[in-house]
Amino acid sequence: MNGLFFDIKRFAVHDGPGIRTTFFMQGCPLSCRWCHNPESRPMEPSSDTGFRTFRLNVDELLAEAEKDRAFFEESGGGVTFSGGEPTAQLEFLKVAAKSLKAKGFHIALDTTGFFPSEESETLAQLFDLILFDIKHLNSELHQKYTGVNNQLILQNLERLIQCKAKIRLRMPFIPEINGGEEHLNQLAKLANNYSLTVDLLPYHRIAGHKYKKLRLENNMKNYSEPSEKELIIAKEIMENQKVAVNIGG
Ligand code: SF4
Repeated sequence: MNGLFFDIKRFAVHDGPGIRTTFFMQGCPLSCRWCHNPESRPMEPSSDTGFRTFRLNVDELLAEAEKDRAFFEESGGGVTFSGGEPTAQLEFLKVAAKSLKAKGFHIALDTTGFFPSEESETLAQLFDLILFDIKHLNSELHQKYTGVNNQLILQNLERLIQCKAKIRLRMPFIPEINGGEEHLNQLAKLANNYSLTVDLLPYHRIAGHKYKKLRLENNMKNYSEPSEKELIIAKEIMENQKVAVNIGG
């Protein structure tokens, strides 16, 4: 069995605690307008796009992780699975996570939360940390901006909490889309309900060239990156609701 990847990032410091090696898995069921990695969405990307993908079996993945073990031990880091959406390759993900865990690695999952609900318990048990993305709490707007509504995602968040998963909420912060005061207060309420910390990930206009290369329409041309002031105000709004907020991962 092997998994399909589009990148490995070493010395990552925003994908969980400490220094981490992040494995970016190919395939995603969402189509967020602001996606930085649109090349990662197809499960079977066409070879003429110019973006590389590669396969690793579990032993090869373990060998990659072993290269950085000393850094993990020194920093309290480990391995993170990101994407794409890692649960789009669920069977491989579970086998790989189990193998890493057996070798003593700290493992984190960066997920959109869009996976079959019956897998929540297994994922909660397997992963030491789940970085759970919230894109928008209004289901219609979620559908509009990501291509799917948020019903399954919020249901899975609740299930993971029930299964005692360790979770950090993350939201890509795009002022015109999800950065309004009302929405931030709703997010604070959700975080408070579950006693969770929130990471606000500032939107960056860095992927324009990828949309061009893939001949995809870039629907974010008119959206701006958040200013430092907007980020500080957003943080304050949520902190006023007694939520711990971090800017960045
Ligand atoms: S969930 Fe992530 S990888 Fe998938 S489309 Fe959205 S931003 Fe891109």
